[in-house]
Amino acid sequence: MKLGIVGLPNVGKSTLFNSLTKAGAESANYPFCTIDPNVGVVPVPDARLDKLTAMYDSAKTTPAVIEFVDIAGLVKGASKGEGLGNQFLSNIREVDAIVHVVRCFDDPNVIHVDGSVDPLRDIETINLELIFSDIEILERRISKQSKGAFNNKDLAKEVSLLKAIKAHLEDGKLARSFTPDDEDDNEFIASLNLLTGKPVIFAANVAESDLADDAANNPYVNAVREFASENGCEVFVICAEIEQEIAELDEDEKKMFLEDLGITESGLEKLIAASYRLLGLISYLTAGPQESRAWTIKVGTKAPQAAGKIHSDFERGFIRAEVVAYDDLMSCGSMTAAKEKGLVRSEGKEYVMKDGDVVLFRFNV
Ligand code: GDP
Repeated sequence: MKLGIVGLPNVGKSTLFNSLTKAGAESANYPFCTIDPNVGVVPVPDARLDKLTAMYDSAKTTPAVIEFVDIAGLVKGASKGEGLGNQFLSNIREVDAIVHVVRCFDDPNVIHVDGSVDPLRDIETINLELIFSDIEILERRISKQSKGAFNNKDLAKEVSLLKAIKAHLEDGKLARSFTPDDEDDNEFIASLNLLTGKPVIFAANVAESDLADDAANNPYVNAVREFASENGCEVFVICAEIEQEIAELDEDEKKMFLEDLGITESGLEKLIAASYRLLGLISYLTAGPQESRAWTIKVGTKAPQAAGKIHSDFERGFIRAEVVAYDDLMSCGSMTAAKEKGLVRSEGKEYVMKDGDVVLFRFNV
């Protein structure tokens, strides 16, 4: 699961990406943290893991991770090949969701590519490039499928759907807001993998002084908030520069630093957690003296497939899962106490996993 960080040049993308990957490199034993200079494997903050580690005195704690990709190079005209152009756009096509960084800070030392700070204009510039690129994809497909459409009903239906989406985009709207007449067509639309069909989170990059009140009085951020709510997206206020500093601190220093800023959680942590949600991901947990660990699954995953995340043998030989909800385990104080209270359930093949299930899988080898 990958998120792409996009935005115009000089809005703070690399600064944000560096703080994400630095936070990753510092906190977890992930030797593969830098697969590629532009790809960072980032741990998902999860307070439950620390509690489990303490309860079991685990030797190791392993958080869930998601990948962030720094997608630099989008400028006006990218869809026509300006800047890194099409290469940039194909990088975006590979991600599952987008973090769109918008500049909401004034700083005469940091040049804005369009001469002034104006987040809505910036968002529109980026969205237009994505729209142009999607229109091109649709046009290619329409021209290919039209050839056979005159004597093939299915192809004719596809072509008319493609044309309807194209008209929607030509109105300046995103594929995300397109609703087909026939709900069954949604699967086909998803298969087109349109850039403007991907879920988006806005990261409003603000000055340090805006953090304490979540930028309530920053007109740039309020404009982004209004735009996002009209388009069904979330907005997070971050100060990329500060995040980069925070990422270098240890846990205690970090707590003090955040207190001084008047906040309890860094913007980065909120952003990571929201990204995980946006991707439709949840975590189940395993705990023991060797390791306490969070495992990533999609919402709706059943027990055997969840077990398969640990090892394919677990899925193949799945017998049952012993499951206790994290909150129940904590309120009982130990697994033994939870068992005595009847809160540890034995679940079979059809069980749909829930976020925060603490699990032990039983399987045949
Ligand atoms: P990118 O081109 O979008 O990747 O932007 P960078 O992350 O390279 O940032 C561009 C410039 O803006 C750098 O000089 C950063 O130090 C500066 N910058 C980034 N975030 C902030 C911020 O929150 N406040 C201020 N004042 N400057 C920032």
